Amino acid sequence: MVPRIIFGRGSLNQLNDIIAPKRLNIKAPFIYLIDDVFKSNAWLTSRIELSYDDKIIYISANEEPKTSQVDDLVESIILITKERPSGIIGIGGGTLLDLAKAVSIMLTNEGETKNYQGWDLVKNPAVYHVGIPTISGTGAEVSRTTVLTGPEKKLGINSDFTPFDQVILDPELTKDVPLEQWFYTGMDCYIHCVESLNGTYLNAFSESYGNMALQLCKEIFLNDNLKPKEAQDKLMMASWHGGMSIVYSQVGVAHAMSYGLSYLLGTKHGIGNCIVFDHLEEFYPEGVKLFKAMKLKHNISLPQGICSNLSDKEFDTMINIALSLEPLWENALGKNWKNIVTPKKLKDLYKKM
Ligand code: NAD
Ligand code: ZN
Repeated sequence: MVPRIIFGRGSLNQLNDIIAPKRLNIKAPFIYLIDDVFKSNAWLTSRIELSYDDKIIYISANEEPKTSQVDDLVESIILITKERPSGIIGIGGGTLLDLAKAVSIMLTNEGETKNYQGWDLVKNPAVYHVGIPTISGTGAEVSRTTVLTGPEKKLGINSDFTPFDQVILDPELTKDVPLEQWFYTGMDCYIHCVESLNGTYLNAFSESYGNMALQLCKEIFLNDNLKPKEAQDKLMMASWHGGMSIVYSQVGVAHAMSYGLSYLLGTKHGIGNCIVFDHLEEFYPEGVKLFKAMKLKHNISLPQGICSNLSDKEFDTMINIALSLEPLWENALGKNWKNIVTPKKLKDLYKKM
């Protein structure tokens, strides 16, 4: 679990005080990895105080993080710094948070990032790392994984060294998120709850967080009376609790199939989950019904026909990626999931999307 967290509108202003005692020496800088959507946003960047050799690296979130991108970032950080950094500070959505987690791990672990995709393969503790979400939903700020696309698979680095050492939850940072992106990333949280609460891995720990997050999602996405600030605050907490719920259980069918879309077509996580979930009545009847109501309420129209021109080989690639995520299927459908979900069934589902 993340050991230190602060929450509140304006809490970003405490960043400098929080990290100052963590500076190892004046040659060991803090490296800020910031979503480039904020590059000319003085409201945010003016609050970051650079000292000594501290650096900001702006990174686009247009594509999801890749293992090769992490390798390149680590190499460039080693080149521009005299000593191992005092800390890595990620500011942005799930993309930037995952990059910050992965870079902080790879600064202290040898070899290529792709070798650490899996469970508990990381040997050395990561560099001190801080996460500051600017969009709510993924739970990347609280999770024990950093999801990366590698040459062979899309799979996280799941380890005890992955979670942030410090998280700053400042809902004000999410105020300018565009409506559609707000919905897609918010629905990631909603889908985490549905998949966790309907999974066979469910336990009292996951259930209590999942129920809390689900209740918040219903308030945020179906209630007309919430003020924008209230909605921002609540969605940030829903994201946290939804993330906590899956930390101790697992996601399910939508995530497994969405990973396939993402691997083959580059479909981003939030929208990919929505495209898949829209067709999963069979697995999550109540959850999908509510999802459709939320979609209607916010006037969201999802892309259609994204799989219509795929070759058999491409379908196979996508299906193999989806089926390789065994814990997700086992959580969703139990130990005998292979009797329920066949490649043909997945192909029929993908064809509808
Ligand atoms: P994102 O980081 O990909 O960003 C989506 C878009 O929103 C980008 O264009 C970004 O520039 C923009 N944006 C972010 N903050 C903004 C702001 N305040 N104002 C305006 N625009 C803003 O979005 P995401 O949905 O948070 O993250 C998706 C990523 O998270 C995927 O790579 C996925 O694999 C990962 N993920 C990780 C976990 C985990 O546990 N580690 C869980 C779920 C998803
Ligand atoms: Zn997710």
